[in-house]
Amino acid sequence: MTIVPGSLPSVIRHWIGGELVDAADGRTFDVSGPVSNTPYAQAARGSAADIDRAVRAAGAAFPEWAGLSNRARADTLCRIANAVEACHDRLATYETYDTGLPITQARGQARRAAENFRYFADVIVTLGEEAFRQGEEQFSYVRRTPVGVAGLITPWNTPFMLESWKLAPALASGCTLVLKPAEWTPLSASLWPEIFAAAGVPAGTVNIVHGIGEEAGQSLVDHPDVPLISFTGSTDTGRHIIRSSAQHLKTTSMELGGKSPAVVFADADLEAALDSVVFGVFSLNGERCTAGSRVLVERPLYAEFVQRLAERAANVRVGLPSDPATEVGALVHAEHYERVLNYVEIGKKEARLVTGGSRPDHLSEGNYLQPTVFADVPRDARIFQEEIFGPVVAVAPFDDEAEAIELANATRYGLAAYIWTSELKRGHRIAHAVESGMVWINSHNVRDLRTPFGGVKDSGVGREGGAHSIDFYTDSKIVHVALGDVHTPRFGAAS
Ligand code: NAD
Repeated sequence: MTIVPGSLPSVIRHWIGGELVDAADGRTFDVSGPVSNTPYAQAARGSAADIDRAVRAAGAAFPEWAGLSNRARADTLCRIANAVEACHDRLATYETYDTGLPITQARGQARRAAENFRYFADVIVTLGEEAFRQGEEQFSYVRRTPVGVAGLITPWNTPFMLESWKLAPALASGCTLVLKPAEWTPLSASLWPEIFAAAGVPAGTVNIVHGIGEEAGQSLVDHPDVPLISFTGSTDTGRHIIRSSAQHLKTTSMELGGKSPAVVFADADLEAALDSVVFGVFSLNGERCTAGSRVLVERPLYAEFVQRLAERAANVRVGLPSDPATEVGALVHAEHYERVLNYVEIGKKEARLVTGGSRPDHLSEGNYLQPTVFADVPRDARIFQEEIFGPVVAVAPFDDEAEAIELANATRYGLAAYIWTSELKRGHRIAHAVESGMVWINSHNVRDLRTPFGGVKDSGVGREGGAHSIDFYTDSKIVHVALGDVHTPRFGAAS
């Protein structure tokens, strides 16, 4: 029996101009959890009219929010962080109920989200603006201003945390905004209105419009008064949004899909590498953009590694997301579950299924899949090339460093990479040769908020995180001023 959070809403409304409102045309869509796959709530189904109303509210709130001192905005961000932490338990149960994330992994989300607000509060009060002096003649300084109304579009995996990741730097920079959360997981976003109200964020500064990507999301992308879109989601949608944004020459940031390699050399610390590989691909139900979903193992270690990985995968506890013993919960949505199962069937024809590949016997309903390991996966296999976004890993051997690099780079993605070796120089060599935005050597996905986050190739365009986020949400104007005499060629002065 799944645990139903006590305060579960049956209706999820937009939040526009500081008010909870229904869609302008009154339409709603069904919201289901991944255990029962039956609707438990109705969410407002945003249309162009709702987006327009939200953009106008954000536009009206912009002068006041942008005009605050950095210290005043930072104080508000700290109050938001406190309010996020105050919702910790409810957020964890909501996220678990709506996304299928195991409760122990959902519990970390509030802390991480709060930290995003605290971190960007620190960034803006310590932020300096660049200045350039040319000898004694000229001085130039940069003046940063918020770009205006930001459009934020987010996916369904760890939805609340990923929303905070965009909300915090956008607000810190002085932007007001419209957020369009993912339609499969709107529940945790229903906590934001009370969080922002408790923190004293002025009405209209943050607006939330729920709805379907092709409707509400597309309307936000198409709106002429939204100069910037920050998007996290799939590569196909990102490509489509860039195309649509061209009409108004919008600034875009694209955090897209991945098929990241974990490269394990025979001299690696085997236990540490195994722990990291298992956690890297099966935590968050395998629905993690930076999952190490392709494991490349040096030949002398290959057979042993595959066997031990399979043993660990077979032992992973799959179960009710609300059960604290659960390590892998239910996949987010019946449609996504079907997609992942389809990849498993494809994999059975392309490679050797070592373990998993079906629903666990003890779970007769819900979107459950036993962690699945495919070995001897050829590089042209679809399960080697395509993002599955579930608890499925493709393993392949390599013979030398050159082949490891070649295989690591043999997909269209380039988000993250993990390297396991005791030879540090080799670790760096491979880190430099791998086509990805982020590399971890002998370490797993631990991220310092100051560091750039993003991918290359089909994994994205641009970087968020740290100063990169502030760059993204602000325009830089350079002001030049003469310090001494001005020596301008005197056109037209000759007698
Ligand atoms: P998705 O692209 O289907 O949807 C993401 C968001 O875009 C949703 O809010 C959706 O409603 C909206 N959307 C869909 N069509 C739209 C349109 N035409 N115009 C505007 N908005 C539109 O992605 P998803 O399935 O929700 O998320 C999973 C994907 O996200 C995976 O590929 C994963 O790798 C990626 N992801 C990437 C990162 C990263 O930082 N690189 C982080 C998390 C997830």
